[in-house]
Amino acid sequence: MTDTLTTALDPHRFVEGRDFRMLIGDRLVDSGDGATYETIDPSTGAVLTRVPQASRADVDLAVEAALDAQPAWEELGVRGRAVLFYRLAEAIEEREEELASLDALDSGNPLDAMRVDVKISAQNLRDWPALALSLTGETVPEASKGNLHYTRYEPYGVVGRILAFNHPAMFAITRILAALIAGNTVVVKPGVQTPLSALAFGEICREILPPGVINVVTGGVEAGDAIVTHPAIKRIGFTGSIPTGRKIQQRAAESGVKHVSLELGGKNAMIVFPDADLDEVVPAARKGMNLEVCQGQSCGSTSRVFVHRELHNAFVERFAAELDTIRVGPAYHPDTQMGPLVSREHHERVMGYVESGRAEGATLVIGGEPPPDSDPGGYYLRPTLFDGVDMEMRIAREEIFGPVVSVFAWDDYESVIEEANSVEYGLTASIWTDNLHLAHKTAQRLQAGYIWINDSTIHYWGTPFGGFKSSGVGREESTDELKSYLELKAIHTILKDPSQAMRGMSQ
Ligand code: NAD
Repeated sequence: MTDTLTTALDPHRFVEGRDFRMLIGDRLVDSGDGATYETIDPSTGAVLTRVPQASRADVDLAVEAALDAQPAWEELGVRGRAVLFYRLAEAIEEREEELASLDALDSGNPLDAMRVDVKISAQNLRDWPALALSLTGETVPEASKGNLHYTRYEPYGVVGRILAFNHPAMFAITRILAALIAGNTVVVKPGVQTPLSALAFGEICREILPPGVINVVTGGVEAGDAIVTHPAIKRIGFTGSIPTGRKIQQRAAESGVKHVSLELGGKNAMIVFPDADLDEVVPAARKGMNLEVCQGQSCGSTSRVFVHRELHNAFVERFAAELDTIRVGPAYHPDTQMGPLVSREHHERVMGYVESGRAEGATLVIGGEPPPDSDPGGYYLRPTLFDGVDMEMRIAREEIFGPVVSVFAWDDYESVIEEANSVEYGLTASIWTDNLHLAHKTAQRLQAGYIWINDSTIHYWGTPFGGFKSSGVGREESTDELKSYLELKAIHTILKDPSQAMRGMSQ
């Protein structure tokens, strides 16, 4: 890898000498009690800066600002909101390098991938208004009486949005758009490890949106819990782990009757049939692991590959060789293909799984350690492949959320379906065969919300994304998400007979 970055390219220029503040109403603010926490560069382990740590009182102020802003925001209508969405899209594109650099610094995700995330965010800002304009209510026929019965959608008011760390800017931007275009205002909290791009996004919003429409608070459990339990927030959208998702459902229920959608973890299977072409499957398995986007720290990543025994040995050999080519290094270095894991704590957790795989008797084919030349302060792990895994092992059953994949050889169709379905997760799956009967039958048998046939990892915006079983509640990126941020009202009108209705009118 070539060495140091020139100053002009160094992403630290977007952090140095800068104060990161939360957006509450029309003001960029510190937390009321002055509390802050450090955010760390996982490529080096160095402190980047300190950011506000929101308390319950700060969240209360954010909710008040959102409540004040909501009626006028709703009144604007979809077209009025769309104009502001388009302006935001342009502003985000102008600041792409800044947002992507902050994400690379803060999360360890490679800079190029984070540039793509910002482009997707701008695209989403342009797509949501079109989808919202196509949403209509229903009229309900009751022809015998000729009365009028119809439904209409109305926003909840203030929506609370709590996010995971793995796509910081993209989540902070795209995961609030359905709620906003529906006429809600929002209080959003990014992942605790990756606050910087959301705070920069708050600065952009302040220049473009009416005050209070978007409020950005940073912090950890206290701020998250304050959002979940706030009495004025009736709709909560959560992206994160299953244990936190369960806590959020519980806390939401303790503080009211609330609508909670959950986008949670995955332990996603790829099933390779004997007729599959390894020239296609091997690169797809690499892509499916999302190594070059977020080091495998993605809910939808392929983490279990079930390969028919006829192809198994050749697959393992070629897949290991493919993974071995990936250059691991600092997220913002031009030669880097895969960065470090997000934090020391998460690195330790992932390494714990690597150790458990070894201890439980799986074969470590490649990886399991940092690259030899990596910065010892950073949280690096080479792409890691285990073979000889069986479904009783922890690495086969639990979400690792890192660059670790397990390979299984299979002989019997019914058994492989049973094994693929035997975990508590049900987010994505990928099927490889040219036999369409097998492909579609298998897609119907797999318990997962998003299935690719001869493809992996890509989200096709407009189609519902979400999980079966413990992987979640609700669907995103589609009309289903839009509807989930709207209350449905039924209105019944008894129409009088015209002669009765016109009584008393001048003829
Ligand atoms: P996490 O559950 O630790 O944290 C998620 C968010 O919840 C953070 O903002 C955190 O500060 C907040 N939080 C933590 N405890 C809370 C509490 N008690 N009350 C309220 N808020 C609380 O998850 P993470 O480590 O940030 O993200 C990784 C997880 O997210 C993985 O399991 C991954 O699969 C999942 N994920 C799912 C999707 C999806 O679309 N299905 C997308 C990305 C990530």
